[in-house]
Amino acid sequence: MKSRFAPSPTGYLHIGGARTALFAWVWAKKNTGKFVLRIEDTDRERSTQASVDAILDGMSWLGLAHDEGPFYQTDRFDRYKEIIQQLLNKDKAYYCECSKERLQILRDELTEKGEKAKYDGCCRDKKLSSGVVRFKNPLEGLVTFKDAVKGSISIGNKELDDLIIARSDGTPTYNLTVVVDDHDMKIDCVIRGDDHINNTPRQINLYQALNWSLPEFAHLPMILGSDGARLSKRHGAVSVMTYRDEGFLPEALLNYLVRLGWSYGDQEVFSLDEIVELFELKNINKAPASFNQEKLLWLNQEYIKVANIEHLIDQLAWHLKHQSVDVSGGPKFEMVVEHLQERSKTLVEMTDGIKMFYQDFEQFDDKLAQKQFKDAQSIELLLTKLTALDEWLADNIKDQIKQVCDELNIGFGKIGQPFRLALSGNGNAGNIDIVAQLVGRKRTLARLQMALDYISKSSD
Ligand code: GLU
Repeated sequence: MKSRFAPSPTGYLHIGGARTALFAWVWAKKNTGKFVLRIEDTDRERSTQASVDAILDGMSWLGLAHDEGPFYQTDRFDRYKEIIQQLLNKDKAYYCECSKERLQILRDELTEKGEKAKYDGCCRDKKLSSGVVRFKNPLEGLVTFKDAVKGSISIGNKELDDLIIARSDGTPTYNLTVVVDDHDMKIDCVIRGDDHINNTPRQINLYQALNWSLPEFAHLPMILGSDGARLSKRHGAVSVMTYRDEGFLPEALLNYLVRLGWSYGDQEVFSLDEIVELFELKNINKAPASFNQEKLLWLNQEYIKVANIEHLIDQLAWHLKHQSVDVSGGPKFEMVVEHLQERSKTLVEMTDGIKMFYQDFEQFDDKLAQKQFKDAQSIELLLTKLTALDEWLADNIKDQIKQVCDELNIGFGKIGQPFRLALSGNGNAGNIDIVAQLVGRKRTLARLQMALDYISKSSD
């Protein structure tokens, strides 16, 4: 069994493409088959190397490794030429010299009559020897196929016109190359977006003209944005790598993508192994799926909570580098990550949380400081007690906070909140005794002193 992902390198790897790739990958794994990556770069004007790289990076970040490829269609032009010639020789294709103007007039006339704009076969029997090459689509009969998602689909050949398979410069077009490649690469199952469903009957006619056996087809429903329109940039990020940049774990995105159009009861969280085990083409929904950022964020948090620390550290590496956060010369990084794991929705949030353990800050959030740095006495007492502390451990720090509360007869919040702000600079910190232990004695005492300085400065 072989499936494939066949993106055109004309932009980044977007959410819809990644979902197609995932379904094709899962289907190959489930059938202990092979997953092929094919770059459909025949449109030389729109294809770029940057886009090829973006697709490869996206696939690699998602962990969707290909077993064969990447193949590039531009490396296969000789093969396409050979097939186009075969079709010409067998009288299954012909040259057409109709001018753009003639085709435009034809289109306008048909549209005016309320008919479908299609080529009228003017050059079909002219036996020309130059121009574009058109496939001789059968004139009669029905093309019927059973789509694994949409069910049985039938279309009359009368609806289809003689499609162009080679441009006048000899370069092949999509419908020809895709058929040749899927045949040559022995693809058994073509999984792709349903924007291609209208191409399928034309492609089936080409398979038949070439006497090639057909693959199975599975057309995936569209992904819509929250407003019901097709998912696009205006709904937020659609590039897969933007999700990496925004702090999503690849496995959370994959889990989210698989649920866009596929379900298994009401289960939401699936490991990749589970997806491979449970996935069936027949369970793909026929109706379009809606993209929901909040659900993705929720899933991401769930994945962060249970992630293995080593894995989180690996995934954080890019973010630390990107934000120039150096985690040497501070507490053990594993402990910081473990502490933040429970409270971070994204790796970006986690990276922000990491900073206070390794970097000093110049000033406090002023609004919070004005509110919380009022009582110098309690902060001073805490500073004195912590300075005298023997062993810098969370439990001992907690005891000292309690003692401050008892001695001054104040509630925990009265010292806890200012202490949290002193430690973090912005009030974003978890369990303060643990945070203080991790921040370390030197930095904690310096930050408490900084809070006292703030109070004395504001009372001047
Ligand atoms: N290259 C086509 C695209 O990016 C996909 C073709 C196919 O999967 O058949 O839309």
